[in-house]
Amino acid sequence: MKENISLSKQKISFFSTQPYDRIFFEKHNTGLELEFFETQLNDLTINLIQNTTIVCVFVNDVVNATVIEALAEKQVKIIALRCAGFNNVDLEAAKKHGIRVCRVPAYSPEAVAEHAMAMILTLNRKIHKAYNRVREQNFSLNGLLGFDLHGKTIGIVGTGNIGKAFSKIAKGFGCKILAYDIVVNPEMEADGVRFVTLETIFKESDIISLHCPLNDKTSHIINKNSLAQMKDNVMIINTSRGGLIDTSDIIAALKKGKVGYLGIDVYEQEEKLFFRDLSENIIQDDDIQRLMSFPNVLVTAHQAFFTNEALTQIALVTLGNIQDLLKNKEIENKAAQLI
Ligand code: NAD
Repeated sequence: MKENISLSKQKISFFSTQPYDRIFFEKHNTGLELEFFETQLNDLTINLIQNTTIVCVFVNDVVNATVIEALAEKQVKIIALRCAGFNNVDLEAAKKHGIRVCRVPAYSPEAVAEHAMAMILTLNRKIHKAYNRVREQNFSLNGLLGFDLHGKTIGIVGTGNIGKAFSKIAKGFGCKILAYDIVVNPEMEADGVRFVTLETIFKESDIISLHCPLNDKTSHIINKNSLAQMKDNVMIINTSRGGLIDTSDIIAALKKGKVGYLGIDVYEQEEKLFFRDLSENIIQDDDIQRLMSFPNVLVTAHQAFFTNEALTQIALVTLGNIQDLLKNKEIENKAAQLI
């Protein structure tokens, strides 16, 4: 029998919030007290939590065993992730302390899939350069040469919600789709997607797009060994999690010209950089500075999810998950309930 938590006067403490989080959560709130902190949750900020049983966190909040132990001492009962990935939460520690953990498994897979395709098109047709050039009245085409996407081979690693949505988009461009996942998707196979080994993805793809979660098996899946197997001039797109790519190895491959294009919406050390304006600061992270200096690298700051539809779903599903857990029900969507 699970412990029943009273619904009345419950407060949710949100961490790592931006103005848009407040707008979407306040719009869809139905009677809970909402408290918004801009700061990240970590062992230094934990004392901000007072009289709260629910903590709502995002991708770069630190929810390790130390933080969870402190949350348990403060009588926190629910950790609600307002994102899909949960690699930043120590689930074992939460289980040990009887804290329920939920997430938003699929708020708008299309939002992320469309951003992955936007990165491919931008890198290929050099839209980022063309935009600046034309504004300076430079109408020359030299250096802007691209290639037809039609007929190219795209390798998708991870064919869950986002990988599947991305596959449909890429098919629409006339691409040949190879896929690797630990679970083969028969629906996609029937739609002409060829499930192959990871090695085949590396060897045969012109473009590789990563859509798997970050875990022990996928950490640094792109490293010097996998890079060596790839076609020269390969394009790599990562909208999933920064830790999938070994940053020093990709920098070395870019310097050698092995990797022709890199699009990243996520970065291994992003928690020190993303979601804030650092335009007046001296960036101490030399790897991101090196990456941003390559003309064939496109970096966006974890914005693939950032659409009106996705933020609406995130707010609705997160609040729904919390309401379900407060009423001591199981969450209807099994994938949303991690513990
Ligand atoms: P999902 O759970 O629907 O799909 C993940 C897929 O990866 C599953 O099919 C799973 O079987 C597969 N997988 C697991 N381990 C694997 C392995 N070792 N090798 C290959 N495939 C493996 O998740 P999703 O909603 O499609 O999201 C994918 C990832 O995208 C998330 O884990 C998250 O990190 C990231 N994400 C990023 C943003 C963003 O804004 N950039 C937004 C949402 C999600």
